[in-house]
Amino acid sequence: MDVNIQLFTGSCTVPAELNLQSITNKLNKILKRTNIANALIGWNKDADLPEITSLLKRSGADIYLWLPVFSELEALAGFSPIIGHKNKELKINYDMGNGENFIFYCPANAENLETFTRIYEEHYSREIYDGVFLDKIRFPSFIGGVDSVLTCFCDCCRSKYDLPETGELYAADSINPLGITSYNDLHYDMDGAFKKIFEYKYSAVFNSLEYLCAYFKGKGLKIGFDLFAPFLAYFTGQDYHRLMPLADFVKPMFYGMTNAPAGLPFEINMYAGAFDNDAENAEKRKKLFLDCIGYGNGFINSEIAGIRKIIDNSGLKTRLYAGIEMNYNGHIAPVTVEYIRESITNIKGADGIVASWDLNTIPDSHIDCLLDAVEFSYAR
Ligand SMILES: [Zn+2]
Repeated sequence: MDVNIQLFTGSCTVPAELNLQSITNKLNKILKRTNIANALIGWNKDADLPEITSLLKRSGADIYLWLPVFSELEALAGFSPIIGHKNKELKINYDMGNGENFIFYCPANAENLETFTRIYEEHYSREIYDGVFLDKIRFPSFIGGVDSVLTCFCDCCRSKYDLPETGELYAADSINPLGITSYNDLHYDMDGAFKKIFEYKYSAVFNSLEYLCAYFKGKGLKIGFDLFAPFLAYFTGQDYHRLMPLADFVKPMFYGMTNAPAGLPFEINMYAGAFDNDAENAEKRKKLFLDCIGYGNGFINSEIAGIRKIIDNSGLKTRLYAGIEMNYNGHIAPVTVEYIRESITNIKGADGIVASWDLNTIPDSHIDCLLDAVEFSYAR
């Protein structure tokens, strides 16, 4: 089981308060008992951590630049926004309190891609990196209600893709508003016009990432993807079937305790509450949805098995690393030792884990638990 670490150096606007001595101690503690395959470090552009990166290099770890793609960079340049189905600029802003805001710009817009590569070249291109770990490679989730998912209707998307007429986008059934009929092979089947918008998103995200991956591979860099868990990824334009061949590794975020975007219970509640303000409806919607996907004990392993099937069927070399949150962050990530132990020891079918999402704020007790659980998994 490969162990990977993630270190958040701050957003574009707010550098993280890094305790370098404590981070070094945690790395040494890990390296005493297991290797670190990859270290994903980002994305404050001024963060320079020569002691940390040389320790990691000496240990044989690859260092990836952790960089958001379709969100978070607007402090560094202007981007074309996402346009909602009501032909208005989408205004969602989920403030994490650290400068991270989840404001997305159009993933299909060619100028946005050029702006992104220019930002990379101006601010982030450094010799020390073996690869890039691409985050926010998606459309917004349900965090802004259904309007944040019925996107993007900008001129660029309308001219390039076959989008549904906005008038077609209404929910016929209030408890199953998207008309979901089944969840198989990491895809939903749906009745009605919504399917069309998700198909378009799949193509838009894939086409842009195909371009960006060719760009980074041309520079000799490896590629990692930060992805939503497959059952949520569908709604944001992340098609594992098409994306897996582009990456050296993928990290599906199986964040069972995170009360913020990408957290599983959080995103499920966002879906359930997205369509009206009726709490009773939301409960019914949630139950129907969870029954449909088979959410419960063993669900994460069934998601992993779905990803593994793509790897095996296509003979891919892409590594599959389950992202488990291990940092403690008040009410946003009230992670416990028991949760970490259970998460790691129950995982089957992954090539390893990413100790997410911030080594700086992972308590020492969580590191000990991680190492015990990894050793337990080796011994099994
Ligand atoms: Zn667009």
